[in-house]
Amino acid sequence: MHNEVMKIPQATAKRLPLYYRFLKNLHSSGKQRVSSAELSEAVKVDSATIRRDFSYFGALGKKGYGYNVNYLLSFFRKTLDQDELTKVALIGVGNLGVAFLKYNFLKNNNTKIEVGFDVIEDKIGTLVNDVPIHHMDDLEKVLQENGVEVAILTVPANAAQTITDRLVESKIKGILNFTPARLNVPANVRVHHIDLAVELQSLVYFLKHYPTPDVEA
Ligand code: ATP
Repeated sequence: MHNEVMKIPQATAKRLPLYYRFLKNLHSSGKQRVSSAELSEAVKVDSATIRRDFSYFGALGKKGYGYNVNYLLSFFRKTLDQDELTKVALIGVGNLGVAFLKYNFLKNNNTKIEVGFDVIEDKIGTLVNDVPIHHMDDLEKVLQENGVEVAILTVPANAAQTITDRLVESKIKGILNFTPARLNVPANVRVHHIDLAVELQSLVYFLKHYPTPDVEA
């Protein structure tokens, strides 16, 4: 991991991919510079936060000029390890799992799902969007052979912890957990938890209790 990343606060680091995607679009439309106000409008992060985030990258916007798009892009590419492909395994080839296998993560990122795993015999040995599906019995062997560093979990909640323990044993560095289960992992493994049902419920709750103001057309 790069030294720069270690010094960046976690909240800032989480926004990097967002900035990176937007800057890449700007760059491909030929734009050379961008102001924090423009960035703010596009990524929906307030401009004071953007200025503070960018100051960690040594990118000091000039008044009336803004930020140099090329400089920021090359910084993000290095910091996010965009030059290096991170190999990902998907575990649980059900409805959600298949959707991820069909989604082209390479479009915006340098991450690629290399292998899938399941326990249903009919799915083993098939290809989903060119990704081979293996049996869970072969998990450790296949992860090692493919140099997989990250796993996406789309299995039923009751299977999540047992699988996580095996992933930890296999030296996986990060887990993106889409199951409702809360996972126990040692400090050297990072888990990001996305519970789609909870996110949706919380959106609905906010809409009901903190209604957004009506905007006149
Ligand atoms: P489907 O429509 O294929 O049943 P689903 O998304 O509705 O999928 P889930 O019960 O959430 O169903 O299971 C997701 C996937 O995880 C399924 O393909 C299932 O076979 C797989 N699965 C279940 N248990 C395990 C396990 N222990 N290890 C790996 N995969 C598992």
